[in-house]
Parts: sequence; C-alpha cells; structure tokens
Amino acid sequence: VVGGLRQRAWVEINLGALAHNVRQLKGLLAAKTALMAVVKADAYGHGAVTVARTALSAGANWLGVATIPEGIELRQAGIDAPILILGATHTPEQLKAIAHWQLQPTLCDPKQALVFSETLAATTGGNLPVHVKLDTGMSRLGPLWEQATEFVQLVHSLPHLQIASIYSHLATAENPDRRIMQQQQQRFETAIAQVQAASMSLPLLHLANSAATLTSPDLHYDLVRVGLAMYGLYPAAHLSSSVRLKPVLQVKARITQVKTIPPNTGVSYGHHFVSDRELRLAVVGIGYADGVPRNLSNRMEALICGRRIPQIGAITMDQLMLDVTAIPDVAVGEVVTLLGQEGKEQITADDWAAVLKTISWEILCGFKHRLPRVAV
Ligand code: PLP
Repeated sequence: VVGGLRQRAWVEINLGALAHNVRQLKGLLAAKTALMAVVKADAYGHGAVTVARTALSAGANWLGVATIPEGIELRQAGIDAPILILGATHTPEQLKAIAHWQLQPTLCDPKQALVFSETLAATTGGNLPVHVKLDTGMSRLGPLWEQATEFVQLVHSLPHLQIASIYSHLATAENPDRRIMQQQQQRFETAIAQVQAASMSLPLLHLANSAATLTSPDLHYDLVRVGLAMYGLYPAAHLSSSVRLKPVLQVKARITQVKTIPPNTGVSYGHHFVSDRELRLAVVGIGYADGVPRNLSNRMEALICGRRIPQIGAITMDQLMLDVTAIPDVAVGEVVTLLGQEGKEQITADDWAAVLKTISWEILCGFKHRLPRVAV
C-alpha cells in the first residue's frame, strides 16, 4: 500500500519527530500543566487522526480543533481524549452534535450560552463542560476582558453548563517586543482576579500558544495550546534556541520525464522562463493543485540526491519543471524533495513563507488531500 501511495507525489509525516517535539514541549512545562495538541485544519495539513494519536501517546492531554466535524472525525476514529472546539458554535443543532460526540464548546457570547443551556434542558438534561473565551486583545472571539465577571456569572448561573476553563488567545506572542503580550496577560489576570473576587471557584486557565509556550513559563498556567511547534517549526527565528524541534512534514514527488531543451526555449505557461543555454529539464508530478503555491514559480528550489536544484517556468496545476543540468544522469522515477531534508540540505516551510511574504502556518495548511499522507 505504501509503495502505491508514493507513485506521483505525497506528504511524509515523521511520527518519531512529532513524538520528539511533544516530549520536548512537555519538558518545558511544570508537572501540573497540561498540553493541548492543536490538531485543527487536519492537524495543520499533517492528518488529524494520526497526529492526535501520536501526540496523545507522547504525552499530550487535550486536543484542540476548530470545528465540530473536526472533532467528530477524531471521535469516530476511537479517540477518547478531551476535545475543545476552539471555534464558535451557535445553534441547537450544533449543540446536540457537540453533546452527542462528547466535544467541549467554546462559549463566547451570552446568547449562545442561553441557547446551549436551554437546548440541554430540553434534550439530554445532562451537564456539558464549556470553555469561556475572553478577548484580552486579539479582537476575535469572546467578550472584552472588562465584561469577564458578568459573562462568567451568567454562564455560572445557567443550568447544565459547567465551566471547565477560562481562556484567551495571544495576538503577538512571537514578537520580540513583548509589550502587547504583557498587556494581554495583565488583562487576563485582572479578569481572573475579578471572577475570583465574585467568589466563583476557578476552573482551568490557559493563554499560551506555541510562541508563549517556548518563551514564557509565566504564561503556561494550567494548560498550553500548542500547534506550530508540535509540527517542528518555530513561530519566529529568534525563538529557535529554546528547544530543538524537528520538522514533521516532508513533501515529495517523482520525476515523470527528463529531456534536453536547446537554448532560447520557453518553459511552461507564459514562457516566463526562457533557457539561455542547452539545459536538462525534468518534469515533476506535483503542482499548485497539490499545494505548491504558484507564486513560487522561478523562485524555489527542490532537492534531488542531496543537491539544490532550481525550479523553472510557471508551476502548473499538476506538474512543475526543474533545471537538472547539474545532475545529468537523473532519471524518470527519481524522488524529488520539495520540502524536507536530504543529507545536509534542507528546505522548510519557513523558506517558502519568506519568499511568499506569508507565515509557515499557511504553507502547512495548504497541502491538499490529493497528496496522500504517508507515516514514516
Ligand atoms: N489556540 C488557539 C485559540 C488557536 O487559534 C491556535 C492556532 O491558531 C493555537 C492555540 C495554536 O497556535 P500555534 O500554532 O501558534 O501554537
């Protein structure tokens, strides 16, 4: 089966690297602090079920997803760890699915809390663990931190809702300038102190993403929510010294044709590359419909036999071309590494992100389902 999956183009997921990263990150935490493996968006393109299983057996305690179907996928695979839905949910139908699959929703709005409480009263009559989200400066989900006490009191007063945690999300944790992050921390702690002063007992508290997990033990609280670092990438270059992470994902494809083209020959749509000499051209079976961004055309390299090889011409939907003049004996069927390591050479999602002026998160999430995920 594995041979079959490696016919044209595929993504390799190094489960040993994933487990290593989880253990490294756990090593940064106090014994009482839990680790949530953030496996939303199909585990940042790595394959949610496999990643979730591996992360849990390496020491992760919670799973975080963005949507109900993402949570259901994990439950249907037999995973029974607690699953927090980080995204918003609203309707009675959604609440019924959440309760049925024993998922745990984020509460970010008074109306949502009322709907959920009433729906539980009218259906199962049971209690549901819920997670209160506060906006301390991200300006995304949750009431503003000043309204924390009021909101927590409301949720607390509603039947069938059990507050399992209060949390918030950081907007700038990867920046060397820590001022905004510190302001968010202060707001979070003020809100928590007010909740406590209103004589409500405190549930789990959490604030940290990967960057804050790597840099700021004082932000770890009871749980950290780690995505990018678990996949072996650093949220910013200056954070790379704290622990040694290993990239989990590699993207590979095979050469499907090799030929020599004469000087002054246009390559691919638009002829944006024209040969200035006779060159050896290899066609590779991967393209933008697999998640290799077209904007990398003429601006990326690939690895063959441990050497860096320039990509030439427009990247097409299913194929791209390389100038393999430097390796004259390269043949059809040879494996090309688009992202990953061969010998001393490595090309990372950070390299692509730098060229495209985006972030590595977007690169990882961009690999399409057409590429089989192969665990190695
Ligand atoms: N927590 C929340 C609410 C998120 O939305 C995310 C990801 O976007 C994370 C944690 C994980 O962030 P990171 O990948 O930077 O660790």
